[in-house]
Amino acid sequence: MAENAIEISGLTKTYRGSGSTPDKQALKGVDLTVKAGSIFGLLGPNGAGKSTLINIMAGLVRKSAGQVKIWGFDQDQNPRQSRAAIGVMPQELNFDPFFAPRAALEVQAGLYGVPRRQRRSDEILKLVGLEDKANAYARTLSGGMRRRLLLAKALVHDPQILVLDEPTAGVDIELRQMLWDNIRMLNKTRGMTIILTTHYLEEAEEMCDEIAIINHGEKIAQDSTQNLLGALDAKTLLITPSTLPDALPELDGVSAKLREDGTLAMAYHTSRTSAEEVLDAVRAHGIRISDIRTEQADLEDVFLELTRAR
Ligand code: ADP
Ligand code: MG
Repeated sequence: MAENAIEISGLTKTYRGSGSTPDKQALKGVDLTVKAGSIFGLLGPNGAGKSTLINIMAGLVRKSAGQVKIWGFDQDQNPRQSRAAIGVMPQELNFDPFFAPRAALEVQAGLYGVPRRQRRSDEILKLVGLEDKANAYARTLSGGMRRRLLLAKALVHDPQILVLDEPTAGVDIELRQMLWDNIRMLNKTRGMTIILTTHYLEEAEEMCDEIAIINHGEKIAQDSTQNLLGALDAKTLLITPSTLPDALPELDGVSAKLREDGTLAMAYHTSRTSAEEVLDAVRAHGIRISDIRTEQADLEDVFLELTRAR
């Protein structure tokens, strides 16, 4: 088994413009190592270069410069082996309307040269909960089912590395939970290395052992999830007051804001202030609390903190 599932160095990608469209440098010399067996999160805002990076790994986009090794195989020297080691669930629903799920998996297996007796189409359909739909007309599949079929297609050649590009963007809670369960199971029981991109901090926190953050085509941080997100301890208590307060509570190091929907947002750093102290300050102000929630720093704040720290 390879020690590192992915080893990338100096990876550059420039999309050539045409006419009035200028060139776009989507990746600017990215180095990235992903340990075999991990669940790795690639985080970054829209346009950061996540899909470009993933599509280069998958052999779907040509790099401009740099070296990519997949499961120890150099992509240029061993294109076949490096492609066989990786399965990709793309961001776009590039969906073939003609094939029922089982047939779609058979076609995909054919493309990857999986011999008939080694195909596991029914097992994979069961895994993603589509066994009832094996022969259903493709156009009758819901959006959630189509997404699960994309995951199934990524698995036909039993790759060591599974890459998921924004697997849960825009899906409902039930499907998100199911995808998370599938991903964890593949990682645990088969030791599959998982690489996922997301812009949900919660997803990265919940799923990933390690996280890299990219922004404007550059990697700006990489660490264990705990180290990376633990250092960013901004939290917000969202309080629904029983009656609108006349004035806002004041507390050192805490920012109090009244939002348009009447929610009192108390932003604080858990390393400096406790939730108890924040609540005490609110109560001391004569504000009665009818409901309370917490909100984590969103990704934008994380980027700000990280870029400020450098
Ligand atoms: P992300 O997945 O993080 O949102 P992408 O990798 O899709 O980012 O895009 C990175 C940058 O490259 C963006 O500015 C995007 O507009 C540009 N880009 C992506 N694909 C193409 C393409 N085929 N042609 C030209 N520019 C592209
Ligand atoms: Mg993308």
